[in-house]
Formats: sequence, structure tokens, C-alpha cells
Amino acid sequence: MMYLFNKLIIWFMPLVPKFIVRMVSKPYVAGSKLEDGIRVVKDLNGRGMCATMDVLGESAIRLEECQEAIDEYLQVLDAIVAEKLDANISVKLTQLGLCLDKEACYQNIRQIVAKADSLNIFVRIDMEDSAVTSDTIEVFLRINQEFKRTGIVLQAYMRRALDDLVRLSALKTNYRLCKGIYVEPRQVAYKDPQTVNDNFGLLIDTAFAMGSYVGIATHDEKVVWKGLELIHRHGLQKDQYEFQMLLGVDEELRQIIVAAGHKLRVYVPFGKNWYAYCLRRLKENPKMALYIIKAMFGIR
Ligand SMILES: Cc1cc2nc3c(=O)[nH]c(=O)nc-3n(C[C@H](O)[C@H](O)[C@H](O)COP(=O)(O)OP(=O)(O)OC[C@H]3O[C@@H](n4cnc5c(N)ncnc54)[C@H](O)[C@@H]3O)c2cc1C
Repeated sequence: MMYLFNKLIIWFMPLVPKFIVRMVSKPYVAGSKLEDGIRVVKDLNGRGMCATMDVLGESAIRLEECQEAIDEYLQVLDAIVAEKLDANISVKLTQLGLCLDKEACYQNIRQIVAKADSLNIFVRIDMEDSAVTSDTIEVFLRINQEFKRTGIVLQAYMRRALDDLVRLSALKTNYRLCKGIYVEPRQVAYKDPQTVNDNFGLLIDTAFAMGSYVGIATHDEKVVWKGLELIHRHGLQKDQYEFQMLLGVDEELRQIIVAAGHKLRVYVPFGKNWYAYCLRRLKENPKMALYIIKAMFGIR
């Protein structure tokens, strides 16, 4: 039944007029221009939160397309300095050619990271679906050898996540830990929500024990609580971890975390590819459509 519902949503979404998709996605996407991203980040900064800026884009089909994404990210870096934003950037490697040519992708991300590093700006490499997990980690390790102001994402639903974390933590890797958004087969990902939450806790605990900085990226209050418990148990200072949330999601919880004095970073996606991005995310995970429909009718 759910399968059919999901299929229906995937089929139906491209028929929904663009302005409705824009209206519905408005809380989650800052806008189509860099100015939109800047405006939203300034507003968040003014309310005690920092940000990570993401230029929305599709997985590159031709290597020539990557230069556009690189140029856009270089502009974002200039804007962070010029506008004195409290923000870093998040980048997806498939946008920079990971599925086409790994060496070219490395050179592409290196251009962005080298400039960011010269401006003291941190770069987070997002994690995508399981087909590219190993390659993403490999490129990250190469980049991180040269530039320490870089970090990666591990997904708690992945069965391999703990092994990856133990291996990477030897380098005191800076993590974003999240549940994981892509639909993966049972062979590679835990399916039971409680098991994913338990694994999330195990990853945070292990990363803290190994001395890593962790961005706890969730809107699930149970995971937030687990994070707080582990922060307390490891006796961490406020500069040894942060919480992270997506733009437009559970602003009440966001406020509660900020009011309690914890660092909170908001993921701010923007860019001219917002429409293709929204449709792709829905195809990857139709559960997202439910969030959108709920948001449309103000259902929490
Ligand atoms: C800062 C940040 C960066 C991320 N980066 C990555 C990444 O690099 N790779 C990756 O695979 N995943 C990434 N994710 C997504 C993550 O993996 C989860 O899919 C997503 O956060 C939902 O999981 P949750 O922990 O919030 O728990 P859930 O149990 O899924 O959600 C808890 C509650 O939050 C609300 N909620 C959650 N997500 C949304 C949404 N999108 N819109 C509206 N309401 C929502 C729902 O009401 C839900 O009941 C990121 C998430 C965050 C917060």
C-alpha cells in the first residue's frame, strides 16, 4: 500500500505547477539566488545561530558542468567574508563529478577547499547514497590530509558507519552525524527506526570517546536527548560539539536548543536548481512528500 502511495507521489510531483512546489518548499529552501542565502543566514546569525550554506545542484552528467558549481561555491566563500557571515559550506561530491571521474572530482573539490582554507572557512562534504560512500570517504581523506578545516558526514542507518567512524576517528575527523536520507537496501542499511537511533547514539559516543568534534544533525528529540546525555557523560565543553538542523524544520526545537546555550547550525540550501533538487529529493525519498503535505496543512 505504502509502495503504491510512494509510486503515486513520484508520478504526481512533476505535474504539480512549479509555483506550488516553490510555495510548499519555501520554508526549506532559502531561494534561487546567493542574495537569498545571505539574507537567511544573516537572519539566523541575528538570532544566535550559525549556518552551513549549500548551493543546490544536480549530480553532474558531464564534467564541464562542474565548473559552474565550483564558481558558485567560490562566490559563496567571498560572500561569507564580505558579509561577515557566521557560516561554512556544505558540498556534494556528485555535483563535482564524483560519478564521472574521481581524479577530476578531487581537483574540483580541492579548488573550493583551497580557497575556503585561505579564508579560514570550514568545508563539510555531504554524504550521498551508498553507491558513492567509499569514493566520498576516499576523496575526503585525500583532501583532509592537506586541509584540516574539512569534515565529512556519516549516516547512522548505514551498517558500515561504525567501522568508517573508527577508521576515520584516528585522524580526529570532524563529523556531521545524521540518520541518512536515501532509500537503501536492507543489506546496507538498518531499517528499524529504533536500531537507527541506537546506532546514532553509538556513533556519537564512539566519536566523542575518540576525541572528534561532532555535529549532531537531527530533528528527532530522542536523538537530541541522547546527544545531551553523551555530552554530559563525556564532560564536553560547548566548543566540542554542535547541533545541526535543516532550514524550516521544527523551529521550536531549534529555539529550545539555542536557549539552552548549545551551538546550533542551520543547513541553508539555495540556488537556481531548487526545483530539480526538490523533485529529486522526493524521488529519492517519497517520505519527504509527506513532510511537505503535512507542512502545507500546518500538521505537526
Ligand atoms: C543539518 C543536516 C544535514 C544533513 N545532511 C545529510 C547528508 O549529508 N546526507 C544524508 O543522507 N542526510 C542528511 N541529512 C538528513 C538526515 O539524514 C535525515 O534524513 C533527516 O534529518 C531526518 O532525520 P531526523 O534525525 O530528523 O529524524 P526523523 O525521525 O526522520 O525526523 C524527526 C522529525 O523531524 C521532522 N523532519 C525531519 N526531516 C524533515 C524534513 N526534511 N522536512 C520536514 N520535517 C522533517 C519530522 O516531523 C519528523 O517527525 C541531514 C540532516 C540535517 C539536519
